[in-house]
Amino acid sequence: MLPIDPQADRARRAWLACPGCDDARDCGVCADRRNCPTHWRYLLRNEGPRVHLQCPGCTHLWTVDTRARG
Ligand SMILES: [Zn+2]
Ligand SMILES: [Zn+2]
Repeated sequence: MLPIDPQADRARRAWLACPGCDDARDCGVCADRRNCPTHWRYLLRNEGPRVHLQCPGCTHLWTVDTRARG
């Protein structure tokens, strides 16, 4: 497990599926694309359309290019 990034801030969150643990797979709240109180990710920083995220559950770090999302 990676350490939680020092820039992680609970006030800055994103609701995206984690590619590391897929913990929201069976969650009805997430399936409805509502802001689930359980399944959220730290929004660490963004560089233009590229957003850096970390999952508080499994500590997986990844980047999403928001231009690539419908
Ligand atoms: Zn995860
Ligand atoms: Zn959820």
